[in-house]
Formats: sequence, structure tokens, C-alpha cells
Amino acid sequence: MFDRKGLPQSVTVYEVGPRDGLQNESVFLSTHQKAALIRHLVDAGLPAIEVASFVRPDLVPALADGEKLLAELAPLLTKHRMSALVPNQKGLDRALKAGVREIAVFASATEAFAKANLHNSVAGSLENYTPVIKQARGAGLAVRGYISMCFGDPWEGNVAPKKVVDVAERLFADGITELSLGDTIGVATPGQVVDLLSELGARGIARSQLAVHFHDTYGQALSNTLTALQEGITTVDSSIGGLGGCPFAKSATGNLATEDLVWQLHGLGIVTGIDFQKLLNVSRWLRDETGLAIRSKTAIALMDGARKIDSGESNTEENNRMVER
Ligand code: MG
Repeated sequence: MFDRKGLPQSVTVYEVGPRDGLQNESVFLSTHQKAALIRHLVDAGLPAIEVASFVRPDLVPALADGEKLLAELAPLLTKHRMSALVPNQKGLDRALKAGVREIAVFASATEAFAKANLHNSVAGSLENYTPVIKQARGAGLAVRGYISMCFGDPWEGNVAPKKVVDVAERLFADGITELSLGDTIGVATPGQVVDLLSELGARGIARSQLAVHFHDTYGQALSNTLTALQEGITTVDSSIGGLGGCPFAKSATGNLATEDLVWQLHGLGIVTGIDFQKLLNVSRWLRDETGLAIRSKTAIALMDGARKIDSGESNTEENNRMVER
């Protein structure tokens, strides 16, 4: 029998599709479609959603409508955990004005990615974030930090855990409330996940403050996730339909798909608060209404077939909403 020792009873699924996902897709959604997607995700029980970005509109045209979108979502912002990406002071000003309660800042573990994506050095970008994080915290906002390229980098190869931990320490010292560890190009394997989490723990960073953000480029996302869960991680990032990718990775494979993640979690009897059938309805809606390609293997297997939906060992009240179609 599978040993559940070490696995958490519940996991927070952090949905990044509307921001991280859509930013890297060639299909553009209207503001109204984005708002509808986010409402559907909330209705399916997703507890935390990254909804918008306040980067320069000309740099990321797919997400140029942040203000308009948040105005549409205004009634939800106080009731649900919804975050917006903020690259600098100007972005924070916009986020505050829009009524956001949580922001996200993006750091890099490697100099090459910092240069390519942030147009700065690792240290320089962290310096720029310090006043932004402090002001946001002062205004009562939660701040989620991300570190990109935590395991491997297309220019620098394998990334030493120490590099990641140094950046993590600095972000926590500035006041972030949660840190998401990004395998931006999807190359990590489970042993690396254990090594990085151990190194973070050795420097006093608690598992409860950490999240993992895996990409499935090399087919490792779910293996890495299970390993992270066994190591005590309880927040996992994923993207509906596996939307997204990384412009710096050769393969365009996207984020870990929310449907695949939830299938695994419910199969393990882990509570998520998510209604799996409703989640699948969101995948179908996304495909039919927007033309976006759904890359979740679970969704592809179940969306149109008349198959019984049963994730195996799911038996908790909260998760046991899977129905026969
Ligand atoms: Mg991602």
C-alpha cells in the first residue's frame, strides 16, 4: 500500500492561469472573457488566483487591461485571495489604486535570467524590490515573492541551491509573506527538489512559507510536486489547461495543469476544496469559448468522453463530488 506518511491533509492550489498562463499564450482574451474565467475558477473552489499584471502594457499586451479587469472583479477582491504582478513602484501604485490585496514580485536565481527578463542584475533587481515590498506590507497587502530558474537555467545550466536561498533570504528580510519556487524551464527532477527544500530549511525558512511552481516541459511536474508534498510543502502553483510556458525555454510546454494536479491530490485523499467536475467544466468552457488549447492530460481524457470520472482513492467528503457523466 502507498505510504502516505508525510503527505499533508490539505493543499492550497494557487491558480496562475489568468496571469502566468495567458501572458504566454498567443490567443488574447477580452477583459470580459478573463473576468468570466476568473469567476468560473472561483466558483469551482480555487482558493487563490493570480489575476493580473501591472507591468508596462506595451511589454505585455495580453495583460494590458489590468485596471479594467480588476474593476470588473472589484466585488470579489475583498472576499477571495487574488494577486497581481507588480514589477516596480509604478506597478504598485496601479495595484493599490485598483484595490488589490496581494501583489507578486519576480526575482531570479541566476544572473543570465535576471538580465534577460528583468534587465538588471540579481542584486540590482532585489534592491529595486525592497521599497516596493515594504510599502505594500505597510499598506496591509500580502506579498508573494517568486524566484525564477530555481533548478536550471537555459544559459547557466544547473542552479546551485545556495543561489536560490540567498535570494530567498533577502526577499523574506524585506517582508514577503510567501515564496514560490519556480522551475521556469521545467528541468528539475525530484532529487533537486529535496536538496533545495533542505537548504532552505537549514537557513530557517519554514515550509509553510513556501510554494512550488513547476513546469511540465520535461514531464517532471507531477513527480516534483509529489516529492515537494512529501517534504512538507502545502501550496502548489498550477495553471488551468496547462496554459503558459516560458519564452526562454525551447519547448513551449506550459505550467503544471490544475486539472492534473487536482486529479493527483484528490486521488491521494488530500483536501483542496475544489469541485473537480466544475473545474473540468471550466476547461471545456475555456476551450470552446476562447479557442485556447487545453494541454491537461486529465482534462483531455475526461472532457468529451462519457467515462466515469473517478480519481481512484478519493473518499473525503470535500473531494467526493466527482460525478458520472
Ligand atoms: Mg509559470
